[in-house]
Amino acid sequence: MAYEFDLFVIGAGSGGVRAARFAAGFGAKVAVAESRYLGGTCVNVGCVPKKLLVYGAHFAEDFEQASGFGWSLGEANFDWATLIANKDREIHRLNGIYRNLLVNSGVTLMEGHAKITGPHEVEVNGQRHTAKHILIATGGWPQIPEIPGHEHAISSNEAFFLKELPKRVLVVGGGYIAVEFAGIFHGLGAKTSLLYRGEMFLRGFDGAVRKHLHEELTKRGMDVQFNADIARIDKQPDGSLKATLKDGRELMADCVFYATGRRPMLDNLGLENTGVKLDKRGFVEVDELYQSAEPSILAIGDVIGRVQLTPVALAEGMAVARRLFKPEQYRAVDYKMIPTAVFSLPNIGTVGLSEEQAIEDGHKVHIFESSFRPMKLTLTECQERTLMKLVVDADTDKVLGCHMVGPEAGEIVQGLAIALKAGATKQHFDETIGVHPTAAEEFVTMRTPVNR
Ligand code: FAD
Ligand code: NDP
Repeated sequence: MAYEFDLFVIGAGSGGVRAARFAAGFGAKVAVAESRYLGGTCVNVGCVPKKLLVYGAHFAEDFEQASGFGWSLGEANFDWATLIANKDREIHRLNGIYRNLLVNSGVTLMEGHAKITGPHEVEVNGQRHTAKHILIATGGWPQIPEIPGHEHAISSNEAFFLKELPKRVLVVGGGYIAVEFAGIFHGLGAKTSLLYRGEMFLRGFDGAVRKHLHEELTKRGMDVQFNADIARIDKQPDGSLKATLKDGRELMADCVFYATGRRPMLDNLGLENTGVKLDKRGFVEVDELYQSAEPSILAIGDVIGRVQLTPVALAEGMAVARRLFKPEQYRAVDYKMIPTAVFSLPNIGTVGLSEEQAIEDGHKVHIFESSFRPMKLTLTECQERTLMKLVVDADTDKVLGCHMVGPEAGEIVQGLAIALKAGATKQHFDETIGVHPTAAEEFVTMRTPVNR
């Protein structure tokens, strides 16, 4: 059968745009449908605006520390509306870049909601189109537990567009988004409480990293509460919000922000017209080639719920484009040693195994750990400490994991990820000459394992 398109991509986010552009570049006839915003979550309500707000929040401590270096500043004032307007302008610029990227690579862009009407058929804006392959790259959506009063809470989607900075914020959750937004609100001057339901936030990260970040946030005056979960939210006559915790305590706030994970975006996607199956958690089930139970339909990115990070969605998009249209260049995505950063203040940067994971995987480990006051702070009152940690296999000397909490941790860990990917040993780290004076050189100068 002749199809109108070789590939129909649903969703112009990180993964969809990458797959579409490369498929078109390999000579395929490609369409992309996007219902909301070009560039998807990352560009519009994710990585990019989040990082801009983190930069904004960081100025608070820069101003505080400047006096130690001889600068005297007038009273610093912050205007949320200016930050949001400038952020919006930048996102608008990026939307245009995404549009050009797609159009210039020969992709047919359809702006509208796409519904799958059959294994090879998609409907957009009332028009049906056929395609040999359909790629679901529809991403995810914030998930707020349905407690009484949940309608008064916001998610990251709304936080980026608040008209004003709330004076008191309760941030609920203990993952990436909660920790990052707590840092943003706190840094910009809101009285911020971070409430996490478990014993210690950032489940899955190295234990020392979690503990260190907790100490640093507390030192900065953020109210971090563990074993704390909201049972109900009640709007007060003055517009403020009363959150009643499961233990009966009551907290007052102007904004309750939930960051309790993201569900796959499958709304009105028409999966019932196909043989696509979902996994136990509700994400689209695919095999190692991103093929769903319906052979003509593939899925990548957040909607498959493997690793919800932009560079992973990009890699998956690339893998699909190559496999379908340039098989001689196909390489499977390697999910090992994915570096990641949490843009909390201070940042976390991490790659490879945590100490706990390494032990669970049966490794005998040597741990190297260093906590120090960064040089930049020595002329200031700030008592923040940086943590660096290496997890090393005691038998093979291979470095299994690198972890850092401190300024620019994400930047530093990117280079280390290449070393780990290449199989670097602790001896390679030891033989590498440091860049002096930097914080990063600590990663090549830790000599004595920690006694456990
Ligand atoms: P998305 O980028 O979500 O794109 C999906 C697109 O599909 C959307 O544009 C949506 O409108 C569209 N769509 C959905 N349904 C339909 C339909 N039926 N028809 C047409 N279009 C449809 N990752 C990082 O690596 N680093 C970070 O710093 C980072 N920060 C983040 C901060 C926040 C607040 C959030 C929420 C996420 C962050 N992420 C970060 C995660 C990252 O944004 C996602 O992993 C990434 O965007 C996933 O890409 P995707 O292509 O799977 O989906
Ligand atoms: P996460 O899955 O990272 O964290 C969700 C948090 O919410 C966990 O602490 C979880 O607790 C808690 N939680 C889940 N359900 C409930 C509930 N019903 N009540 C109370 N707490 C609950 O999700 P996020 O929303 O923070 O982010 C989604 C994903 O987006 C991230 O996993 C990450 O992949 C990506 N992202 C990446 C960023 C980056 O690269 N810097 C930044 C932001 C997002 P528990 O641990 O107990 O289950």
